[in-house]
Amino acid sequence: MRAFAYAVPMMKLQEHVPLAPHTTFGIGGPARYFVEAVQEDDVRDALLWAREHRVPVYVIGGGSNLLVPDEGLEALVLKIATTKWHTSGETVFAEAGCVLDTLIRNAAQLKLGGMEKMAGIPGSLGGAIRGNAGAFGTEIKDLVTSVRVMNMHTLTISEMPASECAFAYRMSIFKGRPEIIILSAQLRLRQGDPKASLVAIDETIAERERRHIQNVRAAGSYFMNPVAKDDVRHLFEAEKGVSSREGRVPAGWLIEKSGAKGLRVGDAQSSDQHADYIVNVGNATAADVRALAAQIKELVANRFAVQLKEEAVIL
Ligand SMILES: Cc1cc2nc3c(=O)[nH]c(=O)nc-3n(C[C@H](O)[C@H](O)[C@H](O)COP(=O)(O)OP(=O)(O)OC[C@H]3O[C@@H](n4cnc5c(N)ncnc54)[C@H](O)[C@@H]3O)c2cc1C
Repeated sequence: MRAFAYAVPMMKLQEHVPLAPHTTFGIGGPARYFVEAVQEDDVRDALLWAREHRVPVYVIGGGSNLLVPDEGLEALVLKIATTKWHTSGETVFAEAGCVLDTLIRNAAQLKLGGMEKMAGIPGSLGGAIRGNAGAFGTEIKDLVTSVRVMNMHTLTISEMPASECAFAYRMSIFKGRPEIIILSAQLRLRQGDPKASLVAIDETIAERERRHIQNVRAAGSYFMNPVAKDDVRHLFEAEKGVSSREGRVPAGWLIEKSGAKGLRVGDAQSSDQHADYIVNVGNATAADVRALAAQIKELVANRFAVQLKEEAVIL
């Protein structure tokens, strides 16, 4: 039996840890307390410690969809960095801290395909499940069969079938339930040819680079693609010659048409290549990003009467 970890925590508890290096934005002040959970027990130990010391907990993964405040967080930031994984037949069992892109490549080497179009999406498997990450027509929900979770308050662990995860466009049950920590997941892939998979991965990355959505100091698409009224949708469809998916219009298109593309506040800029990306072009602060986002929202609302909602998590 394990000794009670909160009396003598086994995890490494750090203090005053700058969070900017833990985010792709490269923005944000320090965490008062910080634990990098490299094994599942660390998650439990950190939660017990936080409970004993009455400190709030924020969970992060790869930090690729996060805006951390400039003043930092008076909290315990728990970074899920558990990276064990194995396969059985066509099923991959992976811990939540696995880097999604690495998992895709490793699975491909083992003749397991199906995730190639998601190559290059930064961040962890846990973060991808929470936001139902996706690209070029594949979303993580297409592959996940079940998710193992821990409730932050009760510390109970349970297995949730994908049918209970309420996956939808950039959405899952976990978005409204921050007390649920994703520990690991089962993914059903399909038999593939490693060479073909690796070619498909390279093609995906090349396409991402062509669209300038790779390796930028940003949090990915800052706003979700909103459902728009018929007139706005028809305008988009007529101009682009494509039908909108699920009645949604790309936020980037709305931003561009509202004249907000390239707009800059301090060192935060709406990308010239991909307007829905807010990029840290120098030493942007979280305040710069928030001010720019507010301006973009206002311009889009005035032009199209559409309310943009953040996809990035604003802590
Ligand atoms: C250059 C760039 C390109 C991108 N391209 C895409 C793209 O093509 N498609 C796409 O969908 N996204 C894209 N993104 C956004 C981002 O990569 C995804 O949202 C990613 O899945 C976030 O994972 P993360 O581990 O970095 O999460 P984080 O940013 O660390 O956290 C995001 C949220 O998830 C929660 N979370 C993280 N791990 C867990 C866990 N184990 N349990 C419970 N909650 C958790 C956090 O609490 C937080 O609320 C891009 C980002 C960048 C920077």
